[in-house]
Parts: sequence; C-alpha cells; structure tokens
Amino acid sequence: SAESSFLVVANRLPVDRLTTPDGETRWRRSPGGLVTALQPVLRAEAGTWVGWSGDEGAAPEPFTLDGMRLSPVSLTGEELRDYYEGFSNATLWPLYHDAVEQPAFHRHWWRSYERVNRRFAERAAEEAGRDALVWVQDYQLQLVPAMLRKLRPDVRIGFFLHIPFPPTELFMQLPNRLEVLRGLLGADVVGFQSPGAAQNFLRLTRQLLDLRPRGHRVVAEDGREVLAESFPISIDVTETEAVAGTDVVKDRAAELRRELGEPRHVILGVDRLDYTKGIEQRIKAFRELLSDGELSVPDVVMVQVATPSRERVEHYRALRRTVEREVGRINGDYGRVGVPAVHYLHQSYNRRELAALYRIADVMVVTPLRDGMNLVAKEYVATRLENDGALVLSEFAGAAADLRQAFLVNPHDLDAVKSGMLTAIRAPVEDRRRRMKAMRRYLRGHDVKHWARGFLTALGVPETATAYDS
Ligand code: UDP
Repeated sequence: SAESSFLVVANRLPVDRLTTPDGETRWRRSPGGLVTALQPVLRAEAGTWVGWSGDEGAAPEPFTLDGMRLSPVSLTGEELRDYYEGFSNATLWPLYHDAVEQPAFHRHWWRSYERVNRRFAERAAEEAGRDALVWVQDYQLQLVPAMLRKLRPDVRIGFFLHIPFPPTELFMQLPNRLEVLRGLLGADVVGFQSPGAAQNFLRLTRQLLDLRPRGHRVVAEDGREVLAESFPISIDVTETEAVAGTDVVKDRAAELRRELGEPRHVILGVDRLDYTKGIEQRIKAFRELLSDGELSVPDVVMVQVATPSRERVEHYRALRRTVEREVGRINGDYGRVGVPAVHYLHQSYNRRELAALYRIADVMVVTPLRDGMNLVAKEYVATRLENDGALVLSEFAGAAADLRQAFLVNPHDLDAVKSGMLTAIRAPVEDRRRRMKAMRRYLRGHDVKHWARGFLTALGVPETATAYDS
C-alpha cells in the first residue's frame, strides 16, 4: 500500500459511484465543505482518504481522483444496519443531540460498531507512512483513535466531532461509555464544534476515569497529553458566493419567485428531514401566525425543503408522517387554489438550486432543537450578496455562536419562534442590512479553510497551513 504522510479517515469517501452506459464504474467527487477544505492538504501532502464507498459488499481497490488517493473500506448489509443505522444513528445520534428522541441500546449494534471501527483503524494503519498525521472524522468512528494508536504508536492522531458532545449526565447512559471515552482519548487533539462540548468531554474524563483536566488539556491513562478544544466548522464562502452570483442562479431565483406567485415575503426552511431540526415547531409557529392574522397567504408563503434522510430508521419514518400531516393540515386550512401556504419539498437539491432558494428567501428560519453547527444557516448568509434578507436562528445550533446578528430564538418556546419570525419580517431594511453585513464579514474571516488550518496547527503541523497559500 502507498505510505501517506497525511490521512483522512471518515465514514464516507467524498465520492459517488456512477455507472456509465457501457457498464463501467466511474467516480465523481461529491460536493461538501469537508472535501473542499481538505483537498488542498491531501494534494500537497500526497494524502489518502479512507472511507466507505457507499455500496454494500466488497470494496473496490484504492484509486486516485482529483489528486487524492481514496482507499475504500467495505461494509456488509448487516453492518450498515447495525453499525451505521443502529449504533451510529439510533444510539449515538439521539443521545448526543440531547436525547430529543429516545436513544436505543442494543448489544449487537455495539459489537458491529466495534468491528467496523477496527476495520477502519487497520486500514489507516496500513496506509499511514512513518510519523504520518491521521485525522479521524465524526461520531461513527470514535474508537478509531485508540485502536490506531495501539497499531501505530508513531503516528499523530486528530479527531473531530461534527455533532454536539452531550452533557455528562446524558453520556453516562451509554452502556459502552468507557470504551467510547478511551477511544477518543487515543487522539492527540480532540476537536469539537463548541467550547461547551469540549468542556463536557473534559469533565467526563474526570468523572469516568478520574483524570485531572487542566485548561484544555488532560493527561490520559498512558501518560500522553490530549488537547480538547473547540474548532467551529464553516463553509467554503468564496465558492458559495460565486455560485450565488452566477446568472444561472439569478435567473432561476427570479423564475422561482414567479412560480410562487410573486409573494411579498418568502419564508424558507432547508433541512434534512431529521427530528433534531425543529421542522414541526417551525411549521406550527407559521400556522399560528396565520391563525392569529399576523400573516396571510398569498402575501406570505413558506417553502420547506425536507431532504430524505435515514429512511430505514423508525424515528425518521414517524417524523415524516407527522410533518406531512401538519403540512396537509395547514394547507387545508390556509391555502388557496394554486397557492399553498407551505410548499413542502421532500427532495434533495444541488448547490445551484439551493442557492436560488436562498436568494428568494426574505426570511430563512433555522430552528434546530440541537445542532452541532448547521451549515445551512451559514450558506444562507453567504448567498446574500446584496446584504438583504434575515436569518431566524436557534440558540441551540452551533452556528448561533458565530452568527451573533441573527434573530436568535429558543425553538422550544413557540411564542419566541413566532415573534422572531415576525420581527425578522418587519425589521427595518437598515437593521437587516447591518446584521447581514456583519455576519457576512465574520464568515469571510472564518471559512472552512480557516477551520482546517486551525485544527491542523493545533495538531502540530504548521507546514500544512502553508499548503493553502500555494
Ligand atoms: N443540502 C443539499 N441539498 C439539499 C439540502 C441540503 O446539498 O437538498 C446540503 C446543504 O447545502 C448543507 C448540508 O446539506 O451543506 C447540510 O448541512 P447542515 O450542517 O445544515 O446539516 P446536517 O444535514 O449536516 O445535519
């Protein structure tokens, strides 16, 4: 195997498999901030990305795409159910998001999680050159740092958690809490989306392992110092602005507005259909604003994109039923022929279509009950090239710490969501402009490359930082 000096280890490879008409396999880079941020480093360092290819069964051989070496790891159908849908998405996901849905604990899910994590660790150990730097991503792979350290004591290991890290009282529910905590402590740097998450982690090392954290650092059981800090992730601002500024997107935005019947105000929500996103709360707030007579159709319409997600997990199926019933109810009560109150789209869109939607949104409503970051909120801000529009944002999204000038609301407080939406709609143009300008300026200085550079510098690789300047 190739011996890379820089490795990214993530559940998914940043590619999608395409089959050409003559039956050949081709790979296309999938869009996303993470790959945009890491590709320059991977290229400069002749790096390797280890991850699942997206297909069940045997993994293809490693290959190169856009200057990145990709090393596919296999997952069986059973592992997809137990490791991915089970332990990752029905145990860890709800537990780490404040248990807004009840986490399920099953021992065979855990065994599968362990087995798959070991496979990723072993692959990373094979691919890594001497003293390489290995950056492990997210909640699906929390055991990899410790497993990899055992196999390869020479490498430097970073771990970044893209979702929240829960308060200790919640984490303590996890039957395998010790293994998970020790798994993470195998890293030299453990990165989180917020200072609170890093604090939760450090407090846990004291409670569960009787360690003595000092500041952002803690000495692990094997005597190594581990740094736990906040590195809030961001988006590729330059690219998002560029897409939003193209004629294609501007024309599409004008067309969408016409198709909606030229309403005075468009309210937009864009989320994966996930119970952490507060979609029901948002639709309910809109319903009450209509019933109170504060807003009316067709003066105002709402567009809600709810991207299909994790459809084999029961909580997600139940959520879909609830949301669709609510949408039906609100349209039955407040829609007109040709003008629904809520335009509900259970579909996935590409970056251009999303940018066009962002551009027509006078008010963007982002109301997660808990969210590690929420990139949609940042993307909306970045597309507001004229500094107009308004963002209503949950205090419980990591993004709230960065987008301070949003109209911040507590999504559990229905009256607060309603008044947030009204205030945003009615705010004077100058106020909205001032807020948007400030948020855009902040984002330009804190884009995804800034994030990657910050993390890698903490991991002790100042030279990778320069890869961005070339
Ligand atoms: N997204 C997309 N197509 C859609 C809806 C969303 O490409 O139809 C993208 C969106 O642009 C954003 C990401 O999916 O980059 C969602 O990230 P976020 O942090 O908001 O939420 P997550 O889904 O990771 O919980």
